[in-house]
Amino acid sequence: MAHKAFLLLLIKVREKMRNDMQLPVQKQMDRFLEELRTRGEVPRLLLHSCCAPCSSYVLEYLSPYFEIYDFYYNPNISPKEEYDERASELKRLIQAMPLPHPVHFVEGEYNPEEYYERVRGYEQCPERGERCRICFSMRLTESAKKCKELACDYFATTLTISPLKQAEVINEIGHNIGAQYGVNYLASDFKKRNGYQRSIVLSKEYELYRQSFCGCVFSKGVNHEES
Ligand code: SF4
Repeated sequence: MAHKAFLLLLIKVREKMRNDMQLPVQKQMDRFLEELRTRGEVPRLLLHSCCAPCSSYVLEYLSPYFEIYDFYYNPNISPKEEYDERASELKRLIQAMPLPHPVHFVEGEYNPEEYYERVRGYEQCPERGERCRICFSMRLTESAKKCKELACDYFATTLTISPLKQAEVINEIGHNIGAQYGVNYLASDFKKRNGYQRSIVLSKEYELYRQSFCGCVFSKGVNHEES
């Protein structure tokens, strides 16, 4: 009986999420966070994180609502020293920030060979092209798997905070992968509400290392500050 009630609740939640998906992403997020606040629930969120600067605002924004598993899975980043530095800055940030609910750092496997294998043939694509889609897909697939493994309620990614990345492309990939693995993808556009600007302020406050390229070897020399 309890099992049936739970299934009905799950169907209702899924239906509501489908309806809410017609709204602009930030509005969906507003509604959802307000519901969590009203119900006093604190679900578990697997947050894929690309680096400390991008994570700073997202952690500040979402930590009042979720227990967060901060998943650093970025085999696209090269060289290894760069990957290690970003990981260590993220760990330092999590320790330093006053966060209302627990945030656990979880590191994925660093498997750059697999990344190079996946993007073979697309090395020369400009940013925002097919190579980046493959890169998002690889990182979000691993995040969905980790979300399931850790029994988290949702997964999301900090990638949408970058003004150089299209949130709609990332969200479409996230929703498809979520459906494939049977886990809930939380769509976002963290650059809204001045999220990106706030990440710059927080990066200064915590003296975070801010990289000058997206992450892969192909993006070196293409000057910007997010991954
Ligand atoms: S430019 Fe950034 S998103 Fe695109 S493939 Fe390289 S690391 Fe991935």
